[in-house]
Amino acid sequence: MDGILIDLGVSSFQLDEDERGFSYHHEARLDMRMDPDLDSSAWELVNYSSVDRLEQIIRDYGEERYAGRIARGIVNARQQHSIDSTLDLVEVIRRSVPANYRRETHPARRTFQALRIEVNQEIESLKEVLPQAVDLLKPGGRVCIISFQSLEDRIVKEYFVQESKDCLCPSIQPVCTCGHKALLKVLTRKPIGPSPDEVAQNNRARSSKLRVAQKLEF
Ligand SMILES: [Zn+2]
Repeated sequence: MDGILIDLGVSSFQLDEDERGFSYHHEARLDMRMDPDLDSSAWELVNYSSVDRLEQIIRDYGEERYAGRIARGIVNARQQHSIDSTLDLVEVIRRSVPANYRRETHPARRTFQALRIEVNQEIESLKEVLPQAVDLLKPGGRVCIISFQSLEDRIVKEYFVQESKDCLCPSIQPVCTCGHKALLKVLTRKPIGPSPDEVAQNNRARSSKLRVAQKLEF
C-alpha cells in the first residue's frame, strides 16, 4: 500500500451512547465495553481490582495526578457497597480529590478515560497495529496516525523513533548485538495539530495530533 491513515479517535457515535456507561454526566451501569463480548467491564475493574492496580491504570491511562487518592477512595467505598453506576463512581471520585481540583475540570474525566482504555485494551491494540500497518506499506509509502490523547501520541512517537534507528542497543554497549535496522523515516518532528478553522467547525478535533512516517526504500 502507498499510504495508510489510522484515526485513533473513538467515534463520537460510540461515546454518545450513554447506556454503556462511558459518560460521567449520565446515570448508567458501569460497563464501557465497546465490544460486548469482552470478558470484563469497567464494573469488574472498579469493584475487584487491587488498589495498586487501580492507581496504576488511572495514572498511566488517565494521566491523573490524584490517581492514588482516587484508587484508595474507590477501594474504601466498595467495602460498604459495590460501585454500580457511572454516577456512583463520579461521587466516589468527587469525594477523593481536593476541593479546588473539582473546580478546574470535571474530576471524573481522567479516571473515566483510563477505565475505557483499560477495558477495551486500547493501548495493546495500538501497539499491535503499528507494526502491522508498516508491514503493509510499500517502500516509500507513508503511514499517518491521528491520535487524541497524549498517551497514544507518545506511543506513536516512540514507535516512530525506534523504527527510524539502525540500532537499539544501550549506548554504553560498544558493539551492536540487536541487529535492528531502520524501517522508517519520520516526516513530522513535531505532531501536526488542527487549524483554528477546523477547531471552529469541529470542536472535537481540538486535541488531535497527526504524525507521519515514510517507509524506507531498500
Ligand atoms: Zn544494536
